[in-house]
Amino acid sequence: MASFDLVEPRSLEEAIGLLDPEDPAVRPVGGGTALMLMMKAQIYKPQRLVCLRRLGGRLSGIAWDAAGSRFRIGALTTFAALEHSPEIAAHLPVVPRTMTTLANVRVRNVATVGGNIAHADPHLDLPPVWLSLGARVLVIGPAGERTLDVADVFAGYYETTLANDELIVALDVPVRPGWRSTYVKVTTRAQHDWPALGIALSAAVSGRVVTDLRLVLSAALDKPTRLVAAEAVLRGAEIDDAVLRRAGDAAVAETEIVTDSRGSADYKQHLLRVHLGRTVRSLMESGT
Ligand SMILES: Cc1cc2nc3c(=O)[nH]c(=O)nc-3n(C[C@H](O)[C@H](O)[C@H](O)COP(=O)(O)OP(=O)(O)OC[C@H]3O[C@@H](n4cnc5c(N)ncnc54)[C@H](O)[C@@H]3O)c2cc1C
Repeated sequence: MASFDLVEPRSLEEAIGLLDPEDPAVRPVGGGTALMLMMKAQIYKPQRLVCLRRLGGRLSGIAWDAAGSRFRIGALTTFAALEHSPEIAAHLPVVPRTMTTLANVRVRNVATVGGNIAHADPHLDLPPVWLSLGARVLVIGPAGERTLDVADVFAGYYETTLANDELIVALDVPVRPGWRSTYVKVTTRAQHDWPALGIALSAAVSGRVVTDLRLVLSAALDKPTRLVAAEAVLRGAEIDDAVLRRAGDAAVAETEIVTDSRGSADYKQHLLRVHLGRTVRSLMESGT
């Protein structure tokens, strides 16, 4: 491995100053779990790594704003901190449930919320969950701060809309009273394998009717994507087999699913039809 600089700034301003808008070989480090794999595989050869761990402050911790009914989750928050937070378990139980098949304890102890989003691998489990919850991302760069929907961070396969000298500072996650959420990781080999598709669903339910929802597909596309046509079929509908079939057809028609080592596009379209129906049904039957 070629040598590189490792710097540990003490302030956000210093960190941004150490990034280089023109040089993608200069990158920030959150938990380092994705970067280390890319460096070992020589897909990424760093010039300078800007380690964020000494920043703390706005980048760390989980703040519950009961009045605003939202969480602000610092970009340096580890998966383990999310997994074990009593407030997150009480208000966003889909998050600790998603952790049960996400990587392993060693990875969850160090991987960070910000690094996970910025990595933009379409197979990751949490981004579709954040998207279904309607989360927004706070970003800071030399020109100041901006906030964007988490969907707008993703530009494509491992690509984001962030500039090289922008940092994710935090994630704002609304808690919608009465809504329930679930994430289904559909693997075609072992349970802990990367998903062939991921389905995240947040919805308000009244009796047999889905009154409102946010439905997201991941892994089978180049980025997590809301299934707006399928949502339109389900919104306001009394759920039965015919409605679920129509929603499955709409989901398949509105997406360009890719063939890869986890299955052909045809096979994954079949999985989508089957698992979309199951996901809606299981959400209707669950209390959270
Ligand atoms: C063995 C193993 C198993 C795994 N299994 C799963 C799994 O089952 N499901 C799953 O979803 N994921 C899995 N992962 C992936 C894991 O979720 C990611 O590696 C992790 O989320 C990346 O977070 P990080 O903080 O380590 O990012 P880093 O490696 O530090 O960074 C990743 C990218 O984000 C950039 N970055 C980091 N922080 C910021 C910031 N604040 N602002 C802007 N850019 C930033 C970096 O420059 C880099 O480009 C696995 C990983 C490993 C190693």
